[in-house]
Amino acid sequence: MQPRTLGLAAFVLAIAAIPLLPVPNFWITQLNYIGLYALVALGLVLLTGVGGLTSFGQAAFAGIGAYSSAWLCTAQGLSPWLGLLAGLLLTGAVALVLGWVTLRMSGHYLPLATIAWSLALFFTMGNLDALGKYDGLLGVPPITLFGFSFQAERRIYALIWAAALGGAIAVLHLLDSRPGRVMRALNLARGGGTTMPEAMGASTFRHKVLMFVIAALLASVSGWLFAHMQRSVNPSPFGIKFGIEYLFMAVLGGVGSVWGAFTGAALVKLTEDQLQVLLPKLIGTAGSYEIIVFGIVLVMVLKFAPDGVWPLLERWLPRRRARRALGEAQPLPARDKPQRGEPLLEAKAVRKAFGGLVAVNDISFTVRAGDIVGLIGPNGAGKSTTFNLVSGVLPLTSGEVWLRGQRVDGLPSREVARRGMSRTFQHVKLVPDMTVLENVALGTYLRTRTGALAAMLRLNGAEERRAMHEAAQQLARVGLAEFGDELAGNLALGPQRLVEIARALASDPALLLLDEPAAGLRHKEKQALAAVLRQLKAEGLSLLLVEHDMDFVMNLTDRIVVMEFGTRLIEGTPAEVQASPAVRAAYLGTEH
Ligand code: ADP
Ligand code: MG
Repeated sequence: MQPRTLGLAAFVLAIAAIPLLPVPNFWITQLNYIGLYALVALGLVLLTGVGGLTSFGQAAFAGIGAYSSAWLCTAQGLSPWLGLLAGLLLTGAVALVLGWVTLRMSGHYLPLATIAWSLALFFTMGNLDALGKYDGLLGVPPITLFGFSFQAERRIYALIWAAALGGAIAVLHLLDSRPGRVMRALNLARGGGTTMPEAMGASTFRHKVLMFVIAALLASVSGWLFAHMQRSVNPSPFGIKFGIEYLFMAVLGGVGSVWGAFTGAALVKLTEDQLQVLLPKLIGTAGSYEIIVFGIVLVMVLKFAPDGVWPLLERWLPRRRARRALGEAQPLPARDKPQRGEPLLEAKAVRKAFGGLVAVNDISFTVRAGDIVGLIGPNGAGKSTTFNLVSGVLPLTSGEVWLRGQRVDGLPSREVARRGMSRTFQHVKLVPDMTVLENVALGTYLRTRTGALAAMLRLNGAEERRAMHEAAQQLARVGLAEFGDELAGNLALGPQRLVEIARALASDPALLLLDEPAAGLRHKEKQALAAVLRQLKAEGLSLLLVEHDMDFVMNLTDRIVVMEFGTRLIEGTPAEVQASPAVRAAYLGTEH
């Protein structure tokens, strides 16, 4: 077992032992609150830390969990367990609708929508007679299971911490899985985005909605436990103030890690109580002065420890060792390969106008199976745009794109990927804080099936092994076998480009598209890249290579299409292209 896993086991044991020890009840109460807060903050680690999305509405989701169960138990006399189920269903439905409406739009709509949602729910709770208005609902029964009542502090403690630790472990499992790798690739603040995961075949919109729903459900469970611990509910703990406080906890503790949620919850709970006693004494009047202190603390934390407090504590813990002893595993399903010479990719008069600028002017070309075709031209010729048109990243102004006899223009890039096209990016798009192997495993997305629930329950072991095995094989294919456990962000540009090629290969493509793979590489790195491409060609792979460097493509390609100012200058064999005065003029005219 890893030292790291042992550390977790020791923590779980300590948490389990505390209520059995003769500690004062006050401690248990504090720990109960910390567990409840951590459960909500955990959702924000997933949403904000991993996905780069912000929500002020987590307290409101806790409110749904609390009120659903409280109302069903008091007004309808139902069991708290049915209350839990109803709360989760209602929370899931609300989160789904909010996410569905706002997450298609740019980043600011979600936080705004969650603020509006918090306010709306707060006033609804406060004004509905059935929910007891601002007094809330009293006489909420304790949770019972087979006659065992979780009423006493030390008993509900067990439920709260089982939920909090279970939630933490489920989120850890999720992040280390097929959907989790997509989620980790989304964070704009950490160099992520939607283009790359979409090109790997994943719907980024669905993954964002999923993260939002999971975060809301975690909050809902916290609210449910809270309602039955308090034995009453009222609107105040579910308003926007607490929505902000949860975000504060997550940021203070560290949104980059699941344990940051626990650190933040503990720090806030423990200092809040001290401050609530101390500050009014110091200032001389009563009031929520702790908010001011928290504001100052948040500014300090963001300045001096932008990743929160947990990473500072984590330095004292044993380092996480890269796991994954890579044994044999069954290969992932493979697609049927095209026949040599069969037309793979056909661009028919594709055109792209950006306003008045025609960046790609009726370009046509064909890539046949087994060929390496180069698309070259000086900077600004329209190569990347053409590339984005055929791979579904940009919509066409006119023209058609066919892949293996199917029309693919108008399809999103993930659908084009599904039909067998895989690509790399001119500006490398790796997830820097994921290992090289995990980055390559992103490429297996379309060949695997695990969903979020299966991942959280760790039912994906066999498939993960197969995906990691495939990733390791593709990494070996580009000559980086020994770099699998390195963080992708630590590699130089040359190896990073090779990792992108391995990731594209992991999708078992019929056609591989490379956008300026040699750009920015040093001479040695270029040679290594050329060797890899030559080997892929020998293995029969079909390639479309967009390149600015003419020398680089000359010895590699079967055919070359030369572009200038959006139009096709010439198409021919490398020798023909090299001999063409027009090409020389285009390159000499703009290059030197
Ligand atoms: P290349 O990859 O050959 O260097 P690009 O395809 O990137 O060229 O660009 C072709 C032309 O289209 C350039 O003049 C560029 O400024 C323009 N262009 C590219 N993308 C956009 C865009 N999103 N909006 C407006 N103009 C663009
Ligand atoms: Mg370009």
